[in-house]
Amino acid sequence: MKEEVKGIPVKVALRCRPLLPRELEEGCQTCLSFVPGEPQVVVGSGEKCFTYDFVFDPSAEQEEVFNLAVAPLIKGIFQGYNATVLAYGQTGSGKTFSMGSAYTAAQENEPTVGVIPRVIQLLFTEMDKKVDFEFLLKVSYLEIYNEEILDLLSPSREKSSQINIREDPKEGIKIIGLTEKTVSLAMDTVSCLEQGNNCRTVASTAMNSQSSRSHAIFTISVEQKKKSDKNSSLRCKLHLVDLAGSERQKKTKAEGDRLKEGININRGLLCLGNVISALGDDKKGGFIPYRDSKLTRLLQDSLGGNSHTLMIACVSPADSNLEETVNTLRYADRAR
Ligand code: ADP
Ligand code: MG
Repeated sequence: MKEEVKGIPVKVALRCRPLLPRELEEGCQTCLSFVPGEPQVVVGSGEKCFTYDFVFDPSAEQEEVFNLAVAPLIKGIFQGYNATVLAYGQTGSGKTFSMGSAYTAAQENEPTVGVIPRVIQLLFTEMDKKVDFEFLLKVSYLEIYNEEILDLLSPSREKSSQINIREDPKEGIKIIGLTEKTVSLAMDTVSCLEQGNNCRTVASTAMNSQSSRSHAIFTISVEQKKKSDKNSSLRCKLHLVDLAGSERQKKTKAEGDRLKEGININRGLLCLGNVISALGDDKKGGFIPYRDSKLTRLLQDSLGGNSHTLMIACVSPADSNLEETVNTLRYADRAR
């Protein structure tokens, strides 16, 4: 048994994107302000104030977010800690931008590159330094859509009905039937990301035509062995999650099939909130309701316990989004 990690299991980074050109044109005003040097965000003219582990104002670059909030989790991987990075927020708040889960090769080396390609780069740089070890990396990329798992790396999407979540006493949560690609170069790993991104389910809503109603999970599993001791195997998992939009249905004018999607997706987000809050609550006697959704079931061995988790709560500064922004600030507050 690995030793349990003490302290707060989940760190929260609040990230506020800049006003978009469209919002500026529409005359939107900023409804959030920031306290220099403090991880605090102020709503309106001081009605509410929230503190998180990190607060990134609209001027924060991708590199800064990565170096301060994400990079420490990557270092933990080599010490045997699983790591999970989740981007939470309403559609249009910057989840996909922050995670880099719409990455294409055209973006290579641009300052706008998000978390996932940066994680891949850092992982390979760190592995190169560890000359006494050998590594085996595998990548998978899936989407949870309507409580169903879709394989984003499988050429034939029919396979998805055969994908099941199992718990293995040694390896933890395993997803049976999911494509796992062995990768030995950063370039190949980034290609898997790009391939999966092309597959992502998107459905248009009144809020954002690129709105994604699904959770996308990019997973890198790392097995390391000391070259001098081949039995010294250490396995870790790194999940990078672009969550479905957290907005309430009424705003997106969803109907029919789309509404059903929304209800199920909200179940995942609701369960995630319950799990994270139970993890931070010693009084609950250790019961964590992982089994209530596919999302939490899948992340079961990578939230709490032997893992480091970062939630990037993404918000828009526009006054027109105030209600959803406050919802996100509260959700993220509960996670701490
Ligand atoms: P979500 O995935 O939450 O729906 P997106 O990541 O697609 O939101 O972001 C919505 C829009 O805002 C996109 O055009 C994106 O490029 C832009 N955007 C988001 N965050 C930032 C940021 N920090 N800086 C500049 N533009 C951003
Ligand atoms: Mg998105």
